[in-house]
Amino acid sequence: MKSIYLLGAAGSIGLQTLEVLKENPGSYQVIGLSLGSNHEINHEILDTFQPKIACLRTESHLKAYQEAYPTIRFVFGDEGLLDVADYNEPGLFVNALSGSAGLMPTVVAIMSGKDIALANKETLVMAGDTIKKLIKTYDVKLYPIDSEHSALWQTLRGEDPKAIDKLVITASGGSFRHLNRTQLKNVTVKDALKHPNWSMGDKITIDSATMMNKGLEVIEAHHLFDMPYEKIETVLHDESVVHGLTYFIDGTIKASLSISDMKIPIQYALFYPERRPYDKSLKLTNLSFKPMDFVRFPLLKLAYEVGKAGGIMPTVMNAANEAAVHLFLKENISFLEIEQIVMNTVKMHQLIEDPSIEEIIETDKKVQSHIRKIYEKR
Ligand code: MG
Repeated sequence: MKSIYLLGAAGSIGLQTLEVLKENPGSYQVIGLSLGSNHEINHEILDTFQPKIACLRTESHLKAYQEAYPTIRFVFGDEGLLDVADYNEPGLFVNALSGSAGLMPTVVAIMSGKDIALANKETLVMAGDTIKKLIKTYDVKLYPIDSEHSALWQTLRGEDPKAIDKLVITASGGSFRHLNRTQLKNVTVKDALKHPNWSMGDKITIDSATMMNKGLEVIEAHHLFDMPYEKIETVLHDESVVHGLTYFIDGTIKASLSISDMKIPIQYALFYPERRPYDKSLKLTNLSFKPMDFVRFPLLKLAYEVGKAGGIMPTVMNAANEAAVHLFLKENISFLEIEQIVMNTVKMHQLIEDPSIEEIIETDKKVQSHIRKIYEKR
């Protein structure tokens, strides 16, 4: 019986996590979760999973929820997320929040001794060094849910780190992969949200189209697998069948393949080290691989530079990107302006080495609100 916490339960990864749980009845208990803004979905989640603690987005409907579910303790807002993370019962803490809001709950969950299954890549991008120190200090486990990192984790299982030559992460190229940079000028939000292979939330779907997602994943892999940036490569792979490859010093390559379904990496993290039955329908057909194009995708190049610079810079890049994607989704800026905003913000910002969690949170807020202020007014 696994005890599960789930932040972002009503989001894309959250709902898929709940589906995996439902498909494995009798093997879990949901202790705590955080809900979204759709009440119908929230009620369905609460009726089905009956958690002990649940976090609402805002205080506005607190009374109604308390009356409908008297046995559940309700909390709300950012503070409420921390209450769930701090809840006094051991368990696996699945963080499926989107964006920088995911950082502090991860920190608090680690400090209260919970193992972490991380779908929120921003946590490691912003504060990878700190998170790794905390993981050691509090002796908890950290499992990736991102498909590429799950693939690498699986290829690395049982291997000596000294035998690794390099890690390779694949990239589908996202919704505009067949367009050149001139053609990107007038693309719309609606087109950007049509990912060719994966079903995911809005932010990550836009990040896939700008290749920022792959940049965040390179930084995530650096922290998860203790790998220098020189030994993490990316490759274009249209089909999203091979998710990650590990090259070993003897010339052997181990790759992890599956259909592009997030429930596979979710289930692997939830029940690790056990494998559970799921979809075995993958048929091998022609697979294509192309070298990464850093001119077409300048944000990926930037992410390597920012990752190597370290300190506060990944936080700055992540914050600028989060604000810019938000503005693009609201149709305040064009698609290509996402890149400009992220690149200019990074260029203007000064490096702070070894920032504290407080400095990281403050920088994230400052950078995001500064960008929003400028472009929301236009
Ligand atoms: Mg991924």
